[in-house]
Amino acid sequence: MKLQEADAKGLLLAHGLPVPEWAVAHDVAEAGAAARRFLAAGADAVVVKAQVLVGGRGKAGGVKLARSVEEAESVAGAILGMDIKGMTVRKVLIGPGADIVREYYLAAVLDRAERGILLMGSAEGGVEIETVAATNPAAIIRQHADPNLGLLDFQARQLAFGMGLHAHLKAAVRIAKGLVTTMKAYDADLVEINPLAIVRERDADGATVERLVCLDAKITLDDSALARHPGLEELRDPDEEAPEDKEAREAGLTFIKLDGTIGCMVNGAGLAMTTMDLVKRAGGEPANFLDIGGGARSDKVAEAMRLILADPKVNAILVNIFGGITRGDEVARGLIEARAQQAREVPMVVRIVGTNATEAAALLQEARFETAGSLDEAAMKAVEAARAAGTTA
Ligand code: GDP
Ligand code: MN
Repeated sequence: MKLQEADAKGLLLAHGLPVPEWAVAHDVAEAGAAARRFLAAGADAVVVKAQVLVGGRGKAGGVKLARSVEEAESVAGAILGMDIKGMTVRKVLIGPGADIVREYYLAAVLDRAERGILLMGSAEGGVEIETVAATNPAAIIRQHADPNLGLLDFQARQLAFGMGLHAHLKAAVRIAKGLVTTMKAYDADLVEINPLAIVRERDADGATVERLVCLDAKITLDDSALARHPGLEELRDPDEEAPEDKEAREAGLTFIKLDGTIGCMVNGAGLAMTTMDLVKRAGGEPANFLDIGGGARSDKVAEAMRLILADPKVNAILVNIFGGITRGDEVARGLIEARAQQAREVPMVVRIVGTNATEAAALLQEARFETAGSLDEAAMKAVEAARAAGTTA
């Protein structure tokens, strides 16, 4: 689950990290009111930022500075409703505009291969890290944090020195360690600050000071760990969740949309991956990963079928069920029910083995379903059907 910048900043702030003030506005009036507050409090400008769950908002015109309430309102009016990479902007973040001296990149990511947390820092901030990795990999400084001990002081210092943050060593160490603490506190996969910025501010006496702050924040949470953090579910942004993701989540199905034409319905994640591999080997492209889970009843099967068919690219379906707790006849009933309701006719190949496979076979035969004895045969038939239907990728 991806968090909006404003929510991510809230979590960082809760862990003592330096984040500039902000407000969230859903319309021009709210944006104007927020801008008025920040300007009255002494800010020279305000920044207005689209809150959508995609990167590169700046380049897309979704981040703008304004020097007056009127300008903030007109900028917010332009950003609200804007389409950024297919996402409609429904809210904006307003904050005091930062006077940026230099931008850095700092992130904590889950490193599965190393079974730990990887800290990545770079003096080339504001740029997407993938670009830096491609054009100047040496500019990325890496440190692995111990999963139990977190990032140790000397590691944080090495990271900061490597990034050239000598003048802000204390703050950089605190922030780097704070990213790891935040990551662990919420079971996040990623906590990314881009840019981490040195900003120029005036202190109470009017003297200019430079400070290191988190200007942007991106956090993604591990969905499988959300049960451990009941409060975080509230931060899910319903506006930005793809409808099929929402449906799948509510039906208790694990569903990941892909680009191919062959819809797959399988029980068990391992079998689902194997099925996708075999579809590819037979020359087809899977349209999705779908694990209906153990013990799925017929209504869940029907729901899974609706999800698969909602994708207009799907022109063949492969059902592969290995009955254990899941009963083959239940799945067969679900398929029959689903086909009775289904909005469009798509060829389907069904392979059901294991618990109640005989009953399933009888039901499927009576309903005139295309079946297959082996998985290879099923994959081949599905790919042929997709090809016959037209556009196998
Ligand atoms: P992203 O493009 O979606 O990653 O959005 P960011 O929050 O990172 O903003 C993009 C860029 O806008 C940053 O790299 C900065 O250069 C610039 N920016 C963001 N906030 C401010 C601000 O308060 N003041 C100034 N001057 N520039 C900002
Ligand atoms: Mn950014």
